Amino acid sequence: MEFNGINFDTYFKNYPDKDGYFGKYGGCFISDELTKAMQEITEAYFTICKSRKFIDELRRIRREFQGRPTPISHLERLSNKLGNVQLYVKREDLNHSGAHKLNHCMGEALLAKYMGKKKVIAETGAGQHGVALATAAAYFGLECDIYMGSVDIKKQAPNVARMKILGANVIEVTHGLATLKEAVDDAFDAYAKEYKDAIYCIGSVLGPHPFPMMVRDFQSVVGIEAREQFTEMTGELPDAIVACVGGGSNAAGFFSGFLNDPVEIYGIEPLGRGPKLGDHAASLKYGTEGIMHGFNSIMLKDENGDPAPVYSVASGLDYPSSGPEHAFLRDLGRVKYDVINDDETIDAFFELSRMEGIIPAIESAHAVAYGIKLAKTMSHGSVLINLSGRGDKDMDYVIENYGIR
Ligand SMILES: *Cc1c(COP(=O)(O)O)cnc(C)c1O
Repeated sequence: MEFNGINFDTYFKNYPDKDGYFGKYGGCFISDELTKAMQEITEAYFTICKSRKFIDELRRIRREFQGRPTPISHLERLSNKLGNVQLYVKREDLNHSGAHKLNHCMGEALLAKYMGKKKVIAETGAGQHGVALATAAAYFGLECDIYMGSVDIKKQAPNVARMKILGANVIEVTHGLATLKEAVDDAFDAYAKEYKDAIYCIGSVLGPHPFPMMVRDFQSVVGIEAREQFTEMTGELPDAIVACVGGGSNAAGFFSGFLNDPVEIYGIEPLGRGPKLGDHAASLKYGTEGIMHGFNSIMLKDENGDPAPVYSVASGLDYPSSGPEHAFLRDLGRVKYDVINDDETIDAFFELSRMEGIIPAIESAHAVAYGIKLAKTMSHGSVLINLSGRGDKDMDYVIENYGIR
């Protein structure tokens, strides 16, 4: 299928290009020494991802450890309530450890093992990426260093406990504001010292090349499964698909299965409390082009041009940029990006729980809210939503801050 001059039959061969660019977005903007480490990872990835042994092992792990394929559920009661449109969800909440993140963490850790590395290193904000990576490290018997700001360590006690139980070293970062930004800095510094024995595992389709490509490829299992399952269930393609976008990994993997199809695609960013800078994390809607954390994309900047403070009720979505592929697909018009605010999200959180018996992650509830909104504008057809994770981690927070709706 051709769209605005891009041939989607050969899209995955051509994007990103060999230097990691999706159009003008992406690339690798880090020190020379770390660039060498990234080249080593790129070469290993291109060799390994064609190896039968690697592919078979990843398949087996997905089936026997992760519980893949995850099903698609038809939201029958919710669809009946809305009237004309059928809603479906792809159940990444049923992936082991409760979200899509394990898809790329298992891939990255398996790559580390094939490269002969002894350790995986990462930062974490809310702790979700740290938990997924600690899970993968435990499975493969790798050491795992997770850098986390002391402010976040206090806020996210259950995830800190999970990481420790799984055998990870949680390394407290105390300087500056002691949150995600400082944790990223320290994790990169540690990696620069240890890259011979360790691999840095980025938590989304972000960072320098090859991570936006590699994480998308590891997440593409979601889109491939979803397309096959949906056509088998209904005999046709969905009319529209929806996913939430923080860094953009669950969306990138899910969308990849449908980019070459006549399907409307929607990526949903968090509008938080509103459109004022600092009140949201909707970088693709309100941001401008810039370089941060080693890649060129669309980002939210403060008055000095540095990454702006961001906010969302969903801690997994509050990042001041999005992956370079999303910036590219936005400019191209192949994917439409829109926003959902905190209040609409909490409504959808309760609606899906009450109507279907599925408690979604607050991140995923953004996509559910948009799917419901979209269905109300359609006279017929179907909408498939990626339910990126389950809401167990969010229940206390929702009850404390919003009560029962
Ligand atoms: C981390 C997280 C997200 C956001 O990450 P993406 O890279 O944008 O997918 C979304 N949903 C859940 C459940 C998460 O844990």
